Amino acid sequence: MELSESYYDVIIIGGGLAGLSAAIHLRKHDLKVLLIEKNSYPRHKVCGEYISNEVLPYLKFLDIDVFAMGAKKIKRLDISTTNNKLITAHLPLGGFGISRYTLDQALYNKAIENGALPVQDTVIEVQFLKDDFKVETKANGHFVSKIVIGAYGKRTHLDVKLNRNFIKNKSPYLAVKTHVKGDFPEDLVALHNFEGGYCGVSKVEDESINLCYITDFEAFKKYKDIDEFQRKVLFKNRYLKSIFENSVPVFEAPLTISQISFEQKQPVQEHIMMCGDAAGMIHPLCGNGMSMAIRSAQIASERVVDFVQEKIGSRDMLEKSYETTWNQTFRNRLKVGHVVANLFDNTILANLSLVALKTMPSLVPQIIKMTHGKPIIIK
Ligand SMILES: Cc1cc2nc3c(=O)[nH]c(=O)nc-3n(C[C@H](O)[C@H](O)[C@H](O)COP(=O)(O)OP(=O)(O)OC[C@H]3O[C@@H](n4cnc5c(N)ncnc54)[C@H](O)[C@@H]3O)c2cc1C
Repeated sequence: MELSESYYDVIIIGGGLAGLSAAIHLRKHDLKVLLIEKNSYPRHKVCGEYISNEVLPYLKFLDIDVFAMGAKKIKRLDISTTNNKLITAHLPLGGFGISRYTLDQALYNKAIENGALPVQDTVIEVQFLKDDFKVETKANGHFVSKIVIGAYGKRTHLDVKLNRNFIKNKSPYLAVKTHVKGDFPEDLVALHNFEGGYCGVSKVEDESINLCYITDFEAFKKYKDIDEFQRKVLFKNRYLKSIFENSVPVFEAPLTISQISFEQKQPVQEHIMMCGDAAGMIHPLCGNGMSMAIRSAQIASERVVDFVQEKIGSRDMLEKSYETTWNQTFRNRLKVGHVVANLFDNTILANLSLVALKTMPSLVPQIIKMTHGKPIIIK
């Protein structure tokens, strides 16, 4: 039988953290799952690669052991201001450092091992017809399913097709990521601020140090290239200068992405259950996007299983239940993340806030708690 002639319980668009977690979860309940991802694995991605421990119980449920893969346990946070003042804090829940190269591949392997059907292709259109979805791909024709999970990340042409509001506005942010080898404590994540942005620093499983920064595109484009930008802007922060100058690049060239948007999105659109960044993106400064992606996959999957097993009586109830729980779980975090990000966008305000935090360091864990969740309870 042709792939496209089958009917699937669930089609997942996008095999990042959200899509892969959902695929593993749904296969644990024997649902027929098609996973459509446009890229191959393994692959490096622009990401700070620090994940909050809040997801550890759920990863265990998914049979993923990040520490067996060498993930670094991270307990401490350093924040420096553009004028080189340093604040240190204990992370209330802590987290771990692992590369997306390793983590996404491990989740993908588990999804396939559990019986999810993978297709490497790009979804170009999704239509909801009567009570089924027709999912059109670039190379493999169309597929039909009862449910579609949209886990295709922060911004794609599908958002244009779905006429989503946030896509109409341009986003001014650009991000750069590289791995280097050098000295850096493995239990530390650092956020070093520079004029117009900040850089996250933490170790991952193979002893590489992840350097990932986000900046305003307008500030960046005044410089000839990444190298000049780093030397003239990032190096004014002496902590960053020292890390960059005393390390050796692992990547041939840094990875970059642009058009990063933190605008509000809807968790359900045209009956598609959006997960991860496709449902809403928290500012990377909060170091919590990956756990939100994984957590939202859990919330969606639990409801989809109940719907397919007819414990949720209608599609309308399914969508409302997902939307309500998504909002209860994430809306406040996103709001606090927004406020913190706006403060950091303004150098003077950022420095003032950080100086204030230096005199009241106990506030740092409180703010972190407001942008993070509690460890996940598995149903
Ligand atoms: C600069 C930066 C630093 C960050 N640092 C951190 C951090 O330190 N800690 C943290 O927790 N979070 C961080 N984040 C956030 C985190 O990276 C995201 O929240 C997370 O990757 C979201 O996962 P996802 O599964 O929703 O999307 P993704 O991981 O982006 O996966 C989406 C997938 O969908 C695929 N896809 C897209 N369109 C289609 C299509 N049409 N058809 C088929 N496939 C498609 C893509 O190829 C991709 O593999 C950072 C983000 C940025 C931008």
